[in-house]
Amino acid sequence: MPHLLILAQPLPPRSLENLGDFTEERPLSTPYGEAGPFALRQPVSGDGVWVLPYFGGPARTDPRATLWAAKELGVQRILAWDSVIGLDHDLDRGQIIIPRDYIGWTKHQPSTFFEETGAGYISQVPPFCPDISAVIARQLPEAKGVVYLGGEGPRRETAAEARMFRQWGADVRGLNLVPETYLAKELELCFGAVGVVIAHGADRSPSTAGGEIRDADRIILAALPAISSDLELTQSCDCDHLQTGPRQRGVLSQDWHEWR
Ligand SMILES: [Zn+2]
Repeated sequence: MPHLLILAQPLPPRSLENLGDFTEERPLSTPYGEAGPFALRQPVSGDGVWVLPYFGGPARTDPRATLWAAKELGVQRILAWDSVIGLDHDLDRGQIIIPRDYIGWTKHQPSTFFEETGAGYISQVPPFCPDISAVIARQLPEAKGVVYLGGEGPRRETAAEARMFRQWGADVRGLNLVPETYLAKELELCFGAVGVVIAHGADRSPSTAGGEIRDADRIILAALPAISSDLELTQSCDCDHLQTGPRQRGVLSQDWHEWR
């Protein structure tokens, strides 16, 4: 089964060619709007990868459309590649990160598939799929585990907000993983992420550009085929059968099929 790569980082043309040949493009309609088009890349052997360019901003499609479409495509595992602001003063431009936990600081409401049924209390432990995170950590040993603050764009944080976010325990701030990671949980999909620090937080002196982001992108691009094939082999998480408080295992997926 192909997995899905959500790309919130602009890349040069042809940089994904090592994931396989481009074989199909598919837009999808969902109850939450249009999603895609998703582009399928098919390697010589293996399941292939759906790729979705994805950039934060108020005009962006409802994030629920993306997760719904992933479920429609039959995807179980979603890997997101985000660009983040380094709030932690030790995080420099070009640092590769793996979000280990998150703080939800978005104000879009509602951001749930359960606004009518009221199902909830879905555990956020672990916050990201442990299998995907482990595969990324294995293939990108230089990546640093961080706490991710999911905010909204397009504006940047103020210096006062950057200090506050750090006091809360956030290491980076980004726009593309929250609410996506918990929407994925609601549909019992695996969601994991990798990121690159592209700028310093507003309370730090501005970072100067010296090709660090391009270098980090190259490292991640080179690791993507191995990450993809590892994802096909590793299957120990139970994201597809989440415990949901009083509800029973597998009930969420069943609901999803009924809603369709
Ligand atoms: Zn998982």
